[in-house]
Amino acid sequence: MPGSLLCDSKCRCRGLPGTLDARILRERVADYTSRMTTLFISDLHLDPERPFITELFGRFIDEEASEAEALYILGDLFEAWVGDDDPSAAGAFVAEKLRALTDAGVPTYFIRGNRDFLLGADYAQRAGMTLLPDPAVILLQGEPTLILHGDLLCTDDVAYQQFRAQTRDPRWQAQFLTQPLPARLSFAEQARAASKARYGELLASGMAETVGDVSHATVQEWFKRYGVRRMIHGHTHRPAIHDHVNGESRIVLGDWYEQGSVLRVGENGFDLVSLPAV
Ligand code: MN
Repeated sequence: MPGSLLCDSKCRCRGLPGTLDARILRERVADYTSRMTTLFISDLHLDPERPFITELFGRFIDEEASEAEALYILGDLFEAWVGDDDPSAAGAFVAEKLRALTDAGVPTYFIRGNRDFLLGADYAQRAGMTLLPDPAVILLQGEPTLILHGDLLCTDDVAYQQFRAQTRDPRWQAQFLTQPLPARLSFAEQARAASKARYGELLASGMAETVGDVSHATVQEWFKRYGVRRMIHGHTHRPAIHDHVNGESRIVLGDWYEQGSVLRVGENGFDLVSLPAV
């Protein structure tokens, strides 16, 4: 325990009479330290087919996130999202967990991913989270940091970027959301199947490595465009901390298919870790 936190004879604190019990002081120090940690997650792809991941997310919120300074969710929290009126059990569970977290004083921010880009203001409000644009610049430990889902950096995939531009058009979204829920669910099912088939083709042609990853030229351009030396994103499911020789760093979050993945940012820097599912 740092000695400077103990009251000495010169202390002018006007708290409770007498000295603080050492145990209470230790708890306060532990609380102070963990409250300085900001957490980043993405690509959970929550889905009824993998209930153990939804459970892991619940434990992560209760145990770790509840002690954090803030939580950032950088997209693809859900495997699919066809509108805030979707009565999925995972959606209800997550809203309840996040609402408890934000009510307890941990601000939670959300950037939409390519799977849950239709997540709207109604759901965000239910969950108590703040929607951020993609990308956004935040101050993290005093350093301007670009945060984004990551699909915008995959500029080698021209067909995907066209699909993305079309489906982010407010007119397209308004039209889509007027369709009945079953029609929207079946559209999402088809889009998933098409995406899987396309990835299969890319794998077969040996293009998956390049087309499925970020464009390094785009990354370099974005560091300059946003005037930052640090970016954090998900989407590619290639967790890594890339420290470039010029002092720039790009942190890529991992997916939650088999286990959890979290980036902890605190006084001691960055810690990208896996969370065991059991
Ligand atoms: Mn994604």
